[in-house]
Amino acid sequence: MKSDFRLWETETSAYLTIPRFDDTDLVQHGFSTRLGGYSQPPFQSLNLGLHVGDDKESVVKNRRLFCESLKINWQDLVAAEQVHGDAVYIVSAEDKGKGAANYVTALSATDALITNQPYLPLSTYYADCVPIFYLDPETPAIGLAHAGWKGTLAKIGAKTLLKMAEAFGSRPDKCLIGIGPSIGSCCYEVDEFIINKFKEYFWPVEQIFYPTSSKWKLNLQEANKLALLEAGALNENIFMSNICTRCQNDLFFSYRAEGGKTGRMAAVIMLK
Ligand SMILES: [Zn+2]
Repeated sequence: MKSDFRLWETETSAYLTIPRFDDTDLVQHGFSTRLGGYSQPPFQSLNLGLHVGDDKESVVKNRRLFCESLKINWQDLVAAEQVHGDAVYIVSAEDKGKGAANYVTALSATDALITNQPYLPLSTYYADCVPIFYLDPETPAIGLAHAGWKGTLAKIGAKTLLKMAEAFGSRPDKCLIGIGPSIGSCCYEVDEFIINKFKEYFWPVEQIFYPTSSKWKLNLQEANKLALLEAGALNENIFMSNICTRCQNDLFFSYRAEGGKTGRMAAVIMLK
């Protein structure tokens, strides 16, 4: 399937960007892969998550490596303790570096970060959940949201967009949005309980799941897109990676493919 994301490969790393974000020349951004880096199995090798039981020094070296390829100072990264909730946090200059080197200093209990401050790099971490990137080129402002099934159901992606409107005056119809690699509907089997929840809150719901012999397969990337359209984003401004992390387990960490014991990719974005 066609992807609106682009894979960049260098000698030391490989990561994805959204070309339409690059075109604005307003941000540095990227989504990491598992290639390169220092971590040992089961975190091989560019694990960027500090909370998964990996050697901390390796993770910090990995963060430095990935941020160097994005021309971002890794010590400025702002990270949060992600809890599969729907809280959106407005990041200010005093938050710079929180969670960059230590998980204990990360912002508590939030799954979405937004800011209109330059040189303040936001970061969120993933293994199968959906990364959502935001760029309002007008005000300008940026954001990131982490959406597993719970966050997707709570429409955290739409809430992030609406919070940007409230906090910075961003217009949803002007914002560029990228929906990154996550577990795809090809690999994401869920039970009736979850499907019934989605039936309650999503329309047209047939667009986001299909039945298998005994269960259902759910398309989290598409569900997030539906919620964003409902919040006023325009179809032509939403860029889909159409990449499944479980199918491409050689390139990405996958919680489901690896039985829960694995590393994390990062989404990073910074206004210049
Ligand atoms: Zn798949």
